[in-house]
Amino acid sequence: MLKKKTNNLETEKIKVVEIFRTVEGEGRWVGLPISFVRLEGCNLRCSWCDTTYSYDGKSYTELTVSQTIKEVEKLGLKRVCITGGEPFLSPSLPRLVQLLLEKGYKIFIETNGTLWNEELGKVINENVYITCSPKPPVYFVHPKLIPFIDELKFVIDSNIKVENILNPQILQFLKNDTIVLQPESNKEQMVKKALYIQDQLLKLGIESRIIPQCHKVLGLP
Ligand code: SF4
Repeated sequence: MLKKKTNNLETEKIKVVEIFRTVEGEGRWVGLPISFVRLEGCNLRCSWCDTTYSYDGKSYTELTVSQTIKEVEKLGLKRVCITGGEPFLSPSLPRLVQLLLEKGYKIFIETNGTLWNEELGKVINENVYITCSPKPPVYFVHPKLIPFIDELKFVIDSNIKVENILNPQILQFLKNDTIVLQPESNKEQMVKKALYIQDQLLKLGIESRIIPQCHKVLGLP
């Protein structure tokens, strides 16, 4: 059994776009030092996407699970964010998460929420923090992902409405301070809109945080 697992580690490939160390630039953990593993591929095409290179089909390297973990270990942090693109597209995501957990990592997964992986559901524990950022136009979130969501992050663009945020199926699982409103590309108009939406949510008793893309403010990757 162990031998089979070891072999898989050496042969199972993941399409990795980049692995780097920075500070968390988005969401509730902003400012903390963190390593990023960006996986290749996305099933959506958001008009304002700032990581189009993650799904252009030519900007990745195929690494084994072992090689990926070794690269993360070189960065010297015990906090790692697995992002994309859309990381749930990678069949090896559960294996990567499981092995990083065994090595004592706190794992953050950023997903657009449209996909689910049964195997991942079996390995998620309290050291896995899932940020779901539903995307326009439908803001669909896979029902099986919903109970595992720790943070709900919305890009505030010119089209989003308060109703897109008020999804009762999701809100019943969330703590009251776990919604993040992220003004698109830190634009002034979108900051104003985020303030308006924040106020509308507050009138319904829902707390939210307006957090810009801080890594861009700081000039970090
Ligand atoms: S879901 Fe994320 S990675 Fe995919 S197109 Fe939208 S913003 Fe880009």
